[in-house]
Amino acid sequence: MAEPATNRTGYFGREFLDQLTQRIDGPAFLSRFLKVEKSGDRYRAVCPFHKDSKPSFYIRNDGSFYCFGCQKNGSVFNFLMEHNGDSFPDAVKEVAQFLGVPLPERRGGNELTEEQRALLDVLDKSASFFRQQLEQAGRDSTVKRYLQKRGIDRTAVARFQIGFAPNSWTGLKDHFSDTSEQLLIDADVLVNNTERNSIYDRYRNRLIFPIRNRQGNVVGFGGRVLDEDVEPKYLNTKQTKVFSKSRELYGMFEALQSARRPERLILVEGYMDVVALAQNGIPNAVAALGTASNDAHFQTMFWFTNEVVCCFDGDDAGRTAAKRALESALAALTDEKSVKFVFLPDGEDPDSFVRANGTKTFQDLIDNAQHVADYFVDTLLETNDRSFSSIEQKAKFVDRAKALIRGVKHDSFRAILAQEVARCFPDDVNMEQLLAPASPDQEPFVPPFDESHMDERQEPEPVVSQFGRSLENIKTKQRVSTLLCAPRIWGSLSIHRDLLRRLTNVAKDHPMTRVWSAIDRHRLTTVDGLIASFQDDKLFARDLNEIYDSSNAQAMEDPEETLQQFLDSVESFITTEEAEVERKTQRKRLSRARDDKEGT
Ligand SMILES: [Zn+2]
Repeated sequence: MAEPATNRTGYFGREFLDQLTQRIDGPAFLSRFLKVEKSGDRYRAVCPFHKDSKPSFYIRNDGSFYCFGCQKNGSVFNFLMEHNGDSFPDAVKEVAQFLGVPLPERRGGNELTEEQRALLDVLDKSASFFRQQLEQAGRDSTVKRYLQKRGIDRTAVARFQIGFAPNSWTGLKDHFSDTSEQLLIDADVLVNNTERNSIYDRYRNRLIFPIRNRQGNVVGFGGRVLDEDVEPKYLNTKQTKVFSKSRELYGMFEALQSARRPERLILVEGYMDVVALAQNGIPNAVAALGTASNDAHFQTMFWFTNEVVCCFDGDDAGRTAAKRALESALAALTDEKSVKFVFLPDGEDPDSFVRANGTKTFQDLIDNAQHVADYFVDTLLETNDRSFSSIEQKAKFVDRAKALIRGVKHDSFRAILAQEVARCFPDDVNMEQLLAPASPDQEPFVPPFDESHMDERQEPEPVVSQFGRSLENIKTKQRVSTLLCAPRIWGSLSIHRDLLRRLTNVAKDHPMTRVWSAIDRHRLTTVDGLIASFQDDKLFARDLNEIYDSSNAQAMEDPEETLQQFLDSVESFITTEEAEVERKTQRKRLSRARDDKEGT
């Protein structure tokens, strides 16, 4: 087992590592490597470290894990080291990259460098400057008329903090006369033209869309021309020390303001599409910056949602964009993560479509998007004609299919695609052929969730803890389970400490006492935290885990009633126990009295 990450921080610094684990969505991150399923409030998977058929491998929000089968546990970094054979620095880098967090300088553990902080500051001020310019523009100005023409209203302007770069070479430059020119150039709001030996505003006479990262900081801008004759139509910030085009998505921050975990995200092509959809009641659209979406974009999207619908224009450019999106998406797909495709009628984009046809029609279109498996075949064939005229054509198709299928990381999804492709050739292409490894040293395909090849004897020996036996007492189990399943009442327990004290007096080692004491002592708020607090007593932790799992069905409707029920039940337990203690004391006293008597 690798050294736990708590003991090593390398040159990253504890603060930085904590930032990563606080920010990461552990279950989502690990679902890139495991088939993660939700069980109540928690996430689990079949353990990759021992042979098992049951999901005994639990994942916490910070990416740390614990297996009740083989007892393996550790941080998200330990997971990458154990599972992927990463070195510790590589594991940290991978997590940081996934989160889009820049690595710290070799010395000091701060998340952002001084330079990055300065860049963010200047970008923020630039965004304010652009916003101000838009506010100050007269009602009859080109920019205001443009907004009106495109139907962008005040709420959309406010939501996306849209601004305006004045038609001047030095508007922003003059505004920032006190700021270092180099900093403004590094932030890419000024251009240093060495040929002409002049420094001037990058964005001129353009509508400005600030691009915000997930923390809400402005990291760059997209600028759209107001005069259709000017090229390029869109101007984007180039790569800077705070902006990575291949990672950020326009509208992501805003979409997450509406829902922290949207049911789906809609990937569109342009800034205007994102804005128009939000304005029409569809707040979950995002756009890749520039033309192509890539693997990192899909990783980012799948971090927040399980479904991405790619909505592209029906023209050639849209088809090409969709094909790229498909290739990028393949690596990120699992049983839970799905990608669908929608093509709008020729000449339409989401912006024009939603305005012309309304929210409902657009939403219907998205609801009926084409599943990736269907689209996969259509794209490969690039025609609806599936009666291949030549052998070469067919061979070419199969080769391309094989190459794409190999790109799919997730086994069961790979099988789905192969099945879909094989269906096109009822006679002479079968699944084995499509799934055949590229080279002989690659592992043959084994369906991962077919349990028939599992050796049942490899199951870990069942061990019964002391508590496990006492579980036969149905009331004990019920009380513990009430407490376990209702973290919402934990906060209110502290005002009933007198009851806890009485409970401790009569039944210090009782499971219910132990659980309540732990909640009280560590001020716990989550079941994961609770179970983790018993890590020294693995069997007890396992029992709690099992109780929790088996009682998921009884969701707690009314916290107040649940609390009252629990307190009542504890009260009656204490009364019984106190009476028992009293009886024992009584008996002792009697027997002592008898002894005394006999002694005289
Ligand atoms: Zn295990």
